[in-house]
Order: sequence, then C-alpha cells, then structure tokens
Amino acid sequence: MVMTRRSDVRLAVATVPGDDRAIALRSVDAQRAALGAALAARRGDVLAACQQAYCDAYPDAYPDDDPERVRADPLWEIHGLAVSAIARWLQTGQAADAGVRSEIASLGRSAVHRNHAADFVEQPASPGPEIGSAPSRPPAGPDQVPGHTAHQLSVALLTKLNFWWSDATCDVLAEEGCRLGIDAAVVGEAAAMVERSSRASLVDMAARYDAEISVLQDHLAHQARHDPLTGLANRAALLDRLERALARLARRPDGLAVVFVDVDNFKAVNDVLGHGVGDAVLRETAARLIADVRPEDLVARIGGDEFVVLFEDLAEPATDGARLGERLRARVGAPMRVGDDELALTISAGVAAVRGAGLTTEEVLTEADAAMYRVKRSGRNRVAVVELGGGAGPVRFAVASGLHAALEQGELRVVYQPLWDARTGGVTGFEALLRWEHPERGTIMPREFVPVAEESGLIWLIGAWVLREACRQSVAWAGTSPAGPRIAVNVSGRQLAEPAFVDEVAGALAASGLPACRLVLEVSESVLLVAQEASRQVCSALVDLGVHVSIDDFGTGYTSLTHLQRLPVDQVKIDREFIRELAGQGDTRVMGAVVALAHELGIEVAAEGVETEAELATVRALGCDVLQGYLLGRPVPPAELDGRAGTPRLALRRRV
Ligand code: C2E
Ligand code: MG
Ligand code: MG
Repeated sequence: MVMTRRSDVRLAVATVPGDDRAIALRSVDAQRAALGAALAARRGDVLAACQQAYCDAYPDAYPDDDPERVRADPLWEIHGLAVSAIARWLQTGQAADAGVRSEIASLGRSAVHRNHAADFVEQPASPGPEIGSAPSRPPAGPDQVPGHTAHQLSVALLTKLNFWWSDATCDVLAEEGCRLGIDAAVVGEAAAMVERSSRASLVDMAARYDAEISVLQDHLAHQARHDPLTGLANRAALLDRLERALARLARRPDGLAVVFVDVDNFKAVNDVLGHGVGDAVLRETAARLIADVRPEDLVARIGGDEFVVLFEDLAEPATDGARLGERLRARVGAPMRVGDDELALTISAGVAAVRGAGLTTEEVLTEADAAMYRVKRSGRNRVAVVELGGGAGPVRFAVASGLHAALEQGELRVVYQPLWDARTGGVTGFEALLRWEHPERGTIMPREFVPVAEESGLIWLIGAWVLREACRQSVAWAGTSPAGPRIAVNVSGRQLAEPAFVDEVAGALAASGLPACRLVLEVSESVLLVAQEASRQVCSALVDLGVHVSIDDFGTGYTSLTHLQRLPVDQVKIDREFIRELAGQGDTRVMGAVVALAHELGIEVAAEGVETEAELATVRALGCDVLQGYLLGRPVPPAELDGRAGTPRLALRRRV
C-alpha cells in the first residue's frame, strides 16, 4: 500500500472535483458512518503500514523477514482493536467502553513483554580497540533484568507503536474521505479522535511509568542509606548527616562529638565461633548502642565491626564526648549471650570533639579513627578523646577575607580533569576545577572555600574568572574549531540566579573565541531542584546561546523523570557516591531506567568519580556516554596537558 502523507491528502480533499450536491445532501451522520465502514474495511492496511514501520525501525525483530510471521504476531491485536474502536465510534457515535480500553492496554503490555523485550535491550557500546581490558558485558535479556527492564523498554516501543498507529489510521481516514467525497470537517474530526486516543494512552503510560519508578526509588533510597545486617544508618547516611552537622557549627557556640567504636578481637569471634555468631554479635552491639543514645543522635555501621555515633548539641564537646564514649564502652562491654555462648567482649573508642566550622567530614572521621587506633595499640577497652577546631567565627572569617586577596594576588588556579568518551576511549573534553594555593596552608580544595564564596557573594567574581580562564585555556590548547575538546565549568546557584550571567558567558566566549558548542556549564542537581523561575530562564537563555548545560551530582536529589523532561539540559552527570553504591550493591535498575530515559530524550549521560575497575564496568554496563574519574585521569595543572590536550585522542588515551 502506498501511503499518502496526511497533509497532502487534506489538500486533495479540499480541491477534489466532487459532486458537491451529493455531498451536501448526505447528512453528517451518514458521512461518519460511511467513513467508519470504510476504515473498518481497511483495518488490514493500517496494520500493514504499522508492521512495515516496525520492521523498518527494528530490522532484527524478525530475522527471517517472513511477512506471515510478522502478521501473526499477537502484538498487532492491539492495533486491530484500536482501529475497530475508532470505526465503531464513527458508525455509532459511541466511544470505546472501559472494557475495550483496558483490554487494549493489557494486550499492549503483555504482547510487548512476551515477544519483544529482548530485541530492545540496549546493547553495550561496542568496545573500541583500546577498551579491550574492560570486561565486556554479557548480552542482557529479560532474564537478567527481571520485570522492570522489560517494562522500561516497552515504554520506548509502545510510544513508537502508538505514533505509527495514529499516523496510519489518519492516512487511511484521509484517503477514504477523499475517495468517498466526505466533508473535510468530518475527516478532521475523525483524525482528531485518533490523535486524542493516542495521546491519552501515551499519558497513561508515562504516569504508570513514573509511579513505578518512584516506588523503586523510595525502596532503593532506603536501601542505599541503611546497613542491611543491623538496620543502622550506613556510611553514606553518616557522611551526609555529619556534613550538615559540621556546617551548622559555623553559627553555633556548642559543638559535637563523633565516637568511633570498634569491637575488640572481633576477628577472633568470626574465625573461632563462625560468621553466624559474628553477625549476632554485630546485631547485639548495634542494639545496645541504639538503646543508649537519644533519638536525635545517629548510630551508623560503617564497616565490618566499626560503628560511629554522632552526638550533636554538646555544650562541652570534649568532656561530654568522653563521658558518652565511656558510657557506650560500659554498656556494649557487658557480657553478651549469643546462642549457647556467653561472650565477654570489649570495645575501643575514639572520640573526636569538634567546635566551630572549617573541618571536613573526612578530617573528623580520620581523627576519631586515629584516636580509636591509639587505644587499640595501648591495650584496648578504653576511650581516647581528641579536640578539633577552635571556634566557628574566626575560621570562616579568615577564609572569606583571605579569598578576596587570593583572587587579587593570583592564588587561585584552575586544574583540569579529562572526560572520556565511553565508546571510543578518546578524550572528549576537560572539567575545570578550582584550587586555592594558599601561601601557608598549601592547596585548599573548593569544597572548603566555594561555600564561603557563595555566602559572601564573592562567587560572582571568582566564577567569572574561572569561566574566562577555562575558555582561554581551551582555545590555547585546541584553537577555535567547533570540533575541539569541550570544556566543562562548574556554575554555582548564585551565578545562575543572575540574569547578567548570560552576558558573562557570552562575554567569556567572545573574549576567548571559544565556540559556544564547546562550553559545558555544570549545575548541581540540588540547585536545579530548588531553582526559581529566574534561574530556569537563565538556563534556557544559556542553551539559546548554544552552550551545553549539564546536571552535576545527578542522583543525589532524585530528580523525577518528568522533571528531567522539562529542563533544558543536554547532559546529566551521575554523582560519584551513587556510582560507588551502584557498583557495590549491584542493583542498577533505577539508574538503568534513568539512563534509558535520558537517551530517549536525547540527553547525554556522564559518570563521575570512576575509581575502580568494578565502577568502570558498572557505568559502562549502564550505557553512560562520558566517563570521568581518578581511574582514568586525575585533575592536573594545565601545563601537564600542554601539547597534548589539543590532540587528546592520540596523547591521553589510556585505559577506558
Ligand atoms: P564536581 O563538579 O562534582 O567535581 C568533581 C569532583 O570530584 C572534583 O573535586 C574532582 O576532583 C573529584 N573527582 C574526580 N574524579 C574523582 C574520583 O575518581 N574519586 C574521587 N573521590 N573524586 C573525584 P574537587 O576538585 O574537589 O571539586 C569539588 C566540587 O567543588 C566540584 O564538584 C564542584 O561542585 C565544586 N567546584 C570546583 N570548581 C568550581 C568552580 O570553579 N566553581 C564552582 N561554583 N564550584 C566549583
Ligand atoms: Mg562538576
Ligand atoms: Mg559532581
């Protein structure tokens, strides 16, 4: 069957030399009935057009290319039913009842799951020659990706099937309308009904899809933050909470204590009494710790027999921390009955007592761990305390006032970390990362001073400087060709909130000569989630300039899929904590669905913080397009890349 495009046919309807009198004499109802009957008679043509589109889009779906097999596929029952429903509506004026609608929906889902899921599992990017060292992913199928993936894939397929069906049905309606000399208005009304049905089923699918994903997300979000053995918070949850608690200290006179607890001789329990008893000991230890603290304190298990308790709001963090650590030691150290055994276990504890801001979670945990270690070395079963920080105001103030001078005296510099193309293994670009070379303190990392710069408004000046510097450097390396490597620059929420930021970006591009398409602006997901209308408009204006916008730290804020669709972004960058958890726990379903959807929407997916081979394998299996991480290349000063960054595919290729 040769299909005429709908617009052509409409034109033909308008100009066909028909029997005007005959048309005018026929009532609208009679015309509808005639059109309905004609559509019903050409049900086979609609199906054939859909089948043709399907075979063109998925040439491997029926490798033997047997038209009989294609026609016999139960997949097409849904299209047949839908055509009949439209024809019936034209003939009788009755819309499909709920029974028919739900039959269509369930036929669609089951047909796709049964027959087609395997054909549409995204195959991993074929490894280029230099990618060989990474373990290649076994061909995935519905068995390896139970239930959810089949559904996730069916969404893409169902969407296409829907469009093919509505196109083919409208084409036939237009052809028949023309042949029978039916009023253009009647044909148009029928076509509108087809489009409405198609849209309704798409909306229904999207809603169901979002609902399923959000249930999964809740479940995985809980899993991602809890230790399965004891039900306590895990390391990620502790780091989060501690980070917030440390930040709050800037505005508070009191302090906090982090107690690092380690069960003495736990290895011997495991080795001698078995892992079953070991697990029971850990669960009992957890229960005793929880029983001994206030609900607002946090108890976490962060490793085999390592627990951490966070106490906030302590007027005297050192003395209070020592007292609390001592109490935990006494409580957990009481004899413990496990099965038939009575165990007398002791613990060693290190307390980091903190006052004032300026310390990182890493520093605090390391100090508490080191204090605990000193106890271990000096005979166990004791508590040691270390005091950190010295008053919030002075530390923060020193950073803020020093930053101004740093900018003026050229103490800020930018380092560059390569971004790799997952498919070819070549370098696609670099991320510009800020450093402060402090004359006394040495290199200060952005997490320590960027928040202060944001608070004081200095980020505006600093951000503008980084942007210009990064654009200039990129041109120095690779000239002004649009095909050169991209340069990614981090943008803070404060910058994005200013409409003048668009001019700032345009100015940096003009001054350096960098083509807009080579600039990627990374905006943290947390910023976009709370972004006001003004920031959204800035974002859109940036996209209009031709620069790319990337959602950084993606996955931490649970951007909904629908949300993703509305943002004018062309890249998402999955957060490294997320990658770490995915690689560790092996459950990649939610992220897999997000990657698939992002690709459906034409959004590129980057993965940051790839540190291990296991993480590399995970992000490649997810289908990420761009990779970044210490495993592949650390951030380095520009001089180390000079002469190579312009021809990155030759010089930097290593081990993607
Ligand atoms: P980000 O944009 O998510 O940048 C990635 C951070 O992860 C960088 O830390 C990078 O050095 C680090 N990283 C890269 N690969 C790995 C890895 O394999 N393992 C681990 N553990 N880390 C890895 P960095 O340079 O400390 O920057 C931290 C954050 O500071 C950045 O996170 C970004 O949000 C912010 N930042 C950096 N430069 C700027 C800037 O010029 N302006 C603004 N507003 N923020 C900046
Ligand atoms: Mg970034
Ligand atoms: Mg990031």
